[in-house]
Order: sequence, then structure tokens, then C-alpha cells
Amino acid sequence: MNADLHPDIVDVVATEEDIAEALERISAQVREDYDGTDLLLVGVLKGAVMVMADLSRRLGTHTQMDWMAVSSYGSGTKSSGVVRILKDLDTDLAGRHVLVVEDIIDSGITLSWLLKNLRSRGAASVEVATLLRKPAAAKVTVDVKYVGIEIPDKFVVGYGLDYAERYRTLPYVGVLAPHVYSDSATLA
Ligand code: 5GP
Ligand code: MG
Repeated sequence: MNADLHPDIVDVVATEEDIAEALERISAQVREDYDGTDLLLVGVLKGAVMVMADLSRRLGTHTQMDWMAVSSYGSGTKSSGVVRILKDLDTDLAGRHVLVVEDIIDSGITLSWLLKNLRSRGAASVEVATLLRKPAAAKVTVDVKYVGIEIPDKFVVGYGLDYAERYRTLPYVGVLAPHVYSDSATLA
């Protein structure tokens, strides 16, 4: 057992090195594909904050960023399918090349809703980059151009991902000990 591991984490699915390597690979592809075209990165708050920070710095100067906050999860650990905009973009998307920056894709419900929403605003193109993808995402028909790391179907936290607003600042992505959420469920 790694002595540095947070006591609520039972397994690490992406180390700091894995994350850096994945973002390096994605950024190289993005730089090649867009080749100097002005790009608007759209991050989904709050989970994508770390991915946005580390990916955007690898992409160079023809890059802007904007943020949306949507709610899809309630307080549990599974998608509800209900998506609500809590904070909208400041940027007009007409004619823009948009790259949605995501932390994780699980059911893909949030993302397919988001893509439909962004495409309806007249963007020139809308693509998706995600650091993490779970197996369920393979079943949905959302086209995700850039994928960092495929992870098992476990509830994970760290590197932006939270449980009840905790664990976002862990530098790695790990599986949360199930007792952490079953304990709080009995309190709720
Ligand atoms: P989806 O709609 O694809 O099922 O889930 C989308 C959102 O749910 C993600 O952007 C993320 O906010 C949250 N999510 C999905 N899986 C996990 C997970 O394993 N851990 C955490 N902390 N959030 C998750
Ligand atoms: Mg997200």
C-alpha cells in the first residue's frame, strides 16, 4: 500500500504521470488537427477545472476558454438524466470552433445533451476531449474525438472529480472506498 495514498482511496486508476502522458498525447493531436485555427475550449464546471488548466497550457496561444456549469447528478453517484444549466457561456458560439473539455464520460447523458445544445448555437465545429472514459460510454452514440484514459466502471475521485465537493485536489484519480458514500447515505 502506497503510504501517500489518501485513506479513503482504495485504488488508483490514473497516476499523475498517467494524466500528464494522456494530456500530452491529446494536446499533440489537437495542435495537429486545428493547426493554428482559433479554438474555444469549453469546460464543464467544476470537474473539468484541472483538465482545462493542464490541457490549455499545452495548446499554445490560439486558445480561449469559457465555462458552463450544468447539473446532472443530484447527490448520488449515478447520472439522473436530468440536465440543467446553472451557468451559461459568456461567448457567442456563432462560427467558432469549439472543443468541449471534459473530466469524465460515464453514461454520456450529460455530454449528448451538451453537444446538442452547443451545436444549436451555430458553432463551426464542436468536438470533445475527455481525460477519462468509463465502459458505459462505449454504448452511447456520442462521438468523442479525444480520449485520455479508459477506466473501469467504478466511482472515482481526484484531479477535479469530487464526492460531495471533497477530494477534487488529489493529484491522481482513485476509486473511493464504498464505505465513504454508504456512510453518508445513511446520514442523508
Ligand atoms: P454521464 O452523464 O456521462 O453519466 O456523467 C457525466 C458527469 O457525471 C461527469 O462530467 C461527472 O461530473 C460525473 N461523473 C461520472 N462518473 C463519475 C465518477 O466516477 N466520479 C465522479 N466524481 N463524477 C462522475
Ligand atoms: Mg463533467
